[in-house]
Amino acid sequence: TSESSPCSASTTCPYCGVGCGVSLELETRAQEGGELKRSITAVSGDNDHPANYGRLCVKGSALAETLSSSGRLTQPQIRDAAGVLREVSWDTALELIAARFGELRSTHGGDSIAAYLSGQLLTEDYYLANKLFKGFIGTPHLDTNSRLCMASAVVAHKRAFGADAVPCSYEDLERAELVVLVGSNLAWNHPVLFQRLKQARIDNPLLRIVVIDPRLTDSCEIADLYLGIRPGSDARLFNGLLAYMAERGRTDRLYLEAHTQGFDAALKQAKRDDCSLSAIARDCDIDVERLETFYYWFATQLHVVTLFSQGVNQSTSGTDKGNAIINCHLAGGKIGLPGAGPFSITGQPNAMGGREVGGLANQLAAHMDYDTPGARALVSEFWKAPNLPEGPGHKAVELFAALGRGEIKALWIMATNPAVSLPDSARVRAALAVCPLVIVSECMADSDTLAYADVVLPASSWSEKDGTVTNSERCISRQRGLLTPPGEARHDWWQLAEVGKRMGYQEAFDYSGPHAIFHEHARLSGFRNSAPRLKAGRKPTATSSVKRLFNIAPLAELDRAGYDALKPIQWPVRRGDKGELIGTPRLFEDATFNTPNGRARLVPVVPQLPQQALSDAVPLRLNTGRIRDQWHTMTRTARSARLMNHRAEPFVELHPQDAATRGLQDGGLARLKGRDEQGGLRGDYRARVRISSGQRRGEVFIPMHWSDHFASHARAGALLAGLVDPFSGQPESKHGAVEVESL
Ligand code: SF4
Repeated sequence: TSESSPCSASTTCPYCGVGCGVSLELETRAQEGGELKRSITAVSGDNDHPANYGRLCVKGSALAETLSSSGRLTQPQIRDAAGVLREVSWDTALELIAARFGELRSTHGGDSIAAYLSGQLLTEDYYLANKLFKGFIGTPHLDTNSRLCMASAVVAHKRAFGADAVPCSYEDLERAELVVLVGSNLAWNHPVLFQRLKQARIDNPLLRIVVIDPRLTDSCEIADLYLGIRPGSDARLFNGLLAYMAERGRTDRLYLEAHTQGFDAALKQAKRDDCSLSAIARDCDIDVERLETFYYWFATQLHVVTLFSQGVNQSTSGTDKGNAIINCHLAGGKIGLPGAGPFSITGQPNAMGGREVGGLANQLAAHMDYDTPGARALVSEFWKAPNLPEGPGHKAVELFAALGRGEIKALWIMATNPAVSLPDSARVRAALAVCPLVIVSECMADSDTLAYADVVLPASSWSEKDGTVTNSERCISRQRGLLTPPGEARHDWWQLAEVGKRMGYQEAFDYSGPHAIFHEHARLSGFRNSAPRLKAGRKPTATSSVKRLFNIAPLAELDRAGYDALKPIQWPVRRGDKGELIGTPRLFEDATFNTPNGRARLVPVVPQLPQQALSDAVPLRLNTGRIRDQWHTMTRTARSARLMNHRAEPFVELHPQDAATRGLQDGGLARLKGRDEQGGLRGDYRARVRISSGQRRGEVFIPMHWSDHFASHARAGALLAGLVDPFSGQPESKHGAVEVESL
């Protein structure tokens, strides 16, 4: 090697929905033979990024440890007649995909083809996949692993606000008088946000924090009040809060009358159950004094942020739970103000970006759905799309069921590992096994889903690819391509564009790079958008327009250099009087919502218990979730010894009495089993016992990360049924039913 040439760059962390800015130090060295090789030498938090202001959690700070090119996919592969994956050229792989898609379209129709995407994809990848599959192949069956993450919050937002719009910013956590965490172990799952909240509590001794969670988690370290509620009783708790506020004159009558609808119906529904504190405390299985304290604090403070996450969403009634929370904020006028609002925190780095481009099966594009009047014609015209479907497609769990029934004959999976992450994973694997054409675009060679792939496409990874992501506070940030992908690995957007062109859609998929795709995405957000946000004083356009909050049209004016230099900005984006770009930290400050009459809706909510039934055979409630130092199915984070040290192996956490009655010792081995619909055994999960008094009696917790690649018999999805929320299609991953026995 010769002398190094150092430089620095900024990008965005690829893990969770906090979306922290990352500063990188890089060096370029000449290798023997003269080839130049660039590598990352140091990782730190970006001091200028508004998500983290220099902070990083342990996962973010270990990013450089996970970047080795060993274990990467580097060449396209096709499975031969003997079932062996053989390396082929890109041309061969792409021609095969285009030809097979073309044949299937002619013989079985476009809807025999499907795509399953990921909140790990960049917005530009997501946009192009959505355009290719929906607009040109003509299938509505494009869904994403974001369905497992925040789909219930999406529907709750739409029902309440008329748009899937998160009202708050992270800074609202620092400006609140009361922060309520519901179904969110912020300390482990969004650690930098937890650090910010912890600091806010130090800076403001009057700030109170309430944690509502069946598990006593590390987030309780900063809690003034902990409510360890019965799993699934969230809607009952918040319905009771609505009744409490109404009975004690703590609703904001002026706000309700001027800016909302549905309050009386929501309250009437809440009061169908006994709303005495003792009855609610009994149903939620909590202490009545703690309940009253929470209700009093919420009702008497204006600046309240309720931050909710997968503990609310991953439920067969997750949408209703979200609306029960939002109802209380609307009833108290605790929204659209600094330090006030319901705040859904997404799991993945770009779950929000996927929502923006229409990456869910019920969406079209640019925050328009199939049921948005005028939207289908608008998108069809903009894309010049010949084959846009008439209506929504299958959501994730349904999509894999249709695959198993043979209705879907080709599936393209990008940047996700559904053989591990979906519930009822045995059925998912069986469905993948019978699908005639499974294409997997993936970075890592150890993804379990590759075992079912007929075509493997090596993808570029974080630090190699260029594009944007949107975090939980609607902030669009750049991820930057700084390193060269190994071997023949290529960007996801390029793979999609090449297939589109080979299918005969040359013009529609002729992009020079991510900048050109982002330009089109931004233009679509403003195309016939009658929300008057582009410039001050601009009038809504006339006919065939669709009013939508998501509008980043001014970003379409960025040239390539402007896109490369884009600073984090929260949508909607508009131009100021001097032509400057202005983002929007807080929505609904003018109390105008995106519904036809501009009023927010309170939604009547009937509290529901989990659907996965307990029985003598499976008497324990199963909770699944993330651990602090791992990400998804560990294909990246398991490469760091430091991250593996936190929890080196799968575990099952349970209450001391549940352990004692089963003869389980801390550190011993246990086996979990569930029951399927026919009364047979579902799953076989084996793990180390961790006895914890923070676990409620009758409930167990296991991590969601381990796959067959990292441990045998440690797939959480194998224990869960594929039951879903009827509105959002989100699976009930927090409420399984199992028995635990000594191994
Ligand atoms: Fe990355 Fe999330 Fe950690 Fe920030 S909090 S560094 S986005 S994993």
